[in-house]
Amino acid sequence: MPFSLSALPGIGPKAVQDLAQLGIHTCKDLLFRIPRRYQDFSSIRQIAFITPGESVTLRVTIESVSERRIKGRKLSITEAVVFDESESLKVVWFNGKYAMKNLREGMQVQLSGTVEQTKYGLQMRQPVYERSGTKALHTGRIVPVYALRGSLTPKRLRNAIHTAIKHVGVDEWLPEHIRNQESLIGLQEAITQIHFPDSGESLALAKKRLSFDELFLYELAHLQSSSRLKKLPAPTIPIREELLKDYASGLPFTLTGAQKKAIWAIANDLEKGVPMNRLLEGDVGAGKTVVAAAAMRLASSEGIQSAMLVPTEILAEQHAQSLGKIFNAVDDISVALLTRSFARLNEEDLSRSELEKKIKDGEVQIIVGTHALIQDSTTFHTLGLVIIDEQHRFGVRQRQALQQKQEKDLGVPHLLSMTATPIPRTLALTIYGDLDISILDEMPKGRLPVKTFLVTKEVNKTFDAISLELNKGHQAFFICPLIDESDAIQAKSVHMLQEELSTSVLGKHKIAILHGRMSGDEKESTMRQFANHEIDILISTTVIEVGVDVPNATVMFVEGAERFGLAQLHQLRGRVGRSDKQSYCYLRPSGFVSKQSFERLLCLTRSNNGFELAEMDLKLRGPGDRQGTNQTGFPEFQIANVFDVNLLSKTRDWAKTLIQEDSNLESFPELKNRLDAYTETIHFE
Ligand code: ADP
Ligand code: MG
Repeated sequence: MPFSLSALPGIGPKAVQDLAQLGIHTCKDLLFRIPRRYQDFSSIRQIAFITPGESVTLRVTIESVSERRIKGRKLSITEAVVFDESESLKVVWFNGKYAMKNLREGMQVQLSGTVEQTKYGLQMRQPVYERSGTKALHTGRIVPVYALRGSLTPKRLRNAIHTAIKHVGVDEWLPEHIRNQESLIGLQEAITQIHFPDSGESLALAKKRLSFDELFLYELAHLQSSSRLKKLPAPTIPIREELLKDYASGLPFTLTGAQKKAIWAIANDLEKGVPMNRLLEGDVGAGKTVVAAAAMRLASSEGIQSAMLVPTEILAEQHAQSLGKIFNAVDDISVALLTRSFARLNEEDLSRSELEKKIKDGEVQIIVGTHALIQDSTTFHTLGLVIIDEQHRFGVRQRQALQQKQEKDLGVPHLLSMTATPIPRTLALTIYGDLDISILDEMPKGRLPVKTFLVTKEVNKTFDAISLELNKGHQAFFICPLIDESDAIQAKSVHMLQEELSTSVLGKHKIAILHGRMSGDEKESTMRQFANHEIDILISTTVIEVGVDVPNATVMFVEGAERFGLAQLHQLRGRVGRSDKQSYCYLRPSGFVSKQSFERLLCLTRSNNGFELAEMDLKLRGPGDRQGTNQTGFPEFQIANVFDVNLLSKTRDWAKTLIQEDSNLESFPELKNRLDAYTETIHFE
């Protein structure tokens, strides 16, 4: 019988609910929940020899415990005096009712925490305590720290996990020859050590094993699904050179060499009768849209519909507008916009049902809309090409869902994803497996590089310069990393920055704010006001990252710049410099900046090339450096470092070898089971 969560010590019905909130439903889930971090309490000291501020563990006897209430406040203080062979010490817990309940005079305990120099002398405040003699889980060792919810406390969770490790076995699934060759420890051992490491070294070994697992599964799943995909039919769209030439000559500019190359690669994919799976990478402003439009042009000449899926309404509107311009002159192509607020065909408003009928009947060739909408409510006539802009988490499953919503069975639609995240080629190939990649590494002519400055001293001079820009009728973005100050991170919130700007020379301009706590509608409407120049300055958290085009904005000011990854800063900077006007980017660090962060910021002042910057970033990062991972659009891993190119290519090689030898993994049943379970939980870029 499987061991259930509620059989664990301290896990009652309430705790079961709280665990479920954290996505933990079984003991296995619990075992595979990697600690967020660790506290190192392995240094055991004597009271007489501690240095204030150090994390230590003391083995002491309790001399006395008492509790006092603070008058007029709901605060109680539990105080204990403890001693060891060397000295005695005062220990304090605020609201420590459990300490009061659990500790008695004469008891021998281990206390872990830091000792501070206070005005009442040396004191240990809020230490973790544990009775001596038991196997220590909370003190005297490297202690795991987990995310908590509701009734869960650190101790309760640790006790539960410790019991689960003892009673619930984890099956080894990694083939032995791989474990041996890569010198990886067993899974059971890795799980034990990741929660309760015996030492720093054994923790490192556990991390190594689990990181390998994570990337290996990812690569395997990727290769397997792409090899399956290649066996499925897709619509054949022949290359028509005349048509492409016509298309290019109809544009108001000359295509760059990189754009031509990308169009050509896509046209070749479309011709093969196998589902295209291509990533189009290009710096912001590199001109990805016209490349995608060329593919749509080819598709529609064969009577095949294209859908362009974007993450926000305003982006959908902008894309529909620019595609409308491109295809205006072509008779047999109509462009539809389908979002929560609009159902438009060639600039004309229709009712949603009218438009959906036309799409279903094949009277519309190109449909631009937000993901949810197109996926949920639309049936297509002959959907053969799907284009995803600025969205990484769209994958195999969504493509299948779209395929099933067609009137005619054409096979699997071709997929082109576009991203402005500059992923170095080395990394992209390993992360995205067999995905084909086109890179727009050439900017359209006539763009002025954005001038970038670090603001380390007098911010008023910068504000003066920005004010001059605004007086010319231009607009400015101000970006903050966080909305909430209480988040301990020393970044100024949107509101603080608003306060600072209003009381400066910039106060005379129209300022609006935008942040994650606003509703989707509020955000869209503020963004629209900015796009229409009803606002001069937009102060925002990073929600504007998603590719909105406001060519009139020429200033990008980033607050707390050291908190952003290089790639993300470059993305933000790409919001300006989108016209022939000179643009400016100001990076203001908040507070103390490490040498490494400073180097990173300097890179931006030196280069305007996203790929160059991404390579620099990769070099600047140490092996364990996951900072900014979640901001880059890369897949996120629980424990593995996505920038560990070495490990990535190792796991990828193993995955390739296995799949080549045994595509269904028949000879590795445990691995097959694990992979199936994993594939259930993910979808692909
Ligand atoms: P992104 O790659 O960021 O999506 P867009 O496709 O929005 O870039 O293009 C940015 C702007 O550059 C658009 O106004 C587009 O019309 C223009 N553009 C695209 N290609 C060229 C080119 N070859 N020469 C000049 N302008 C171009
Ligand atoms: Mg774009």
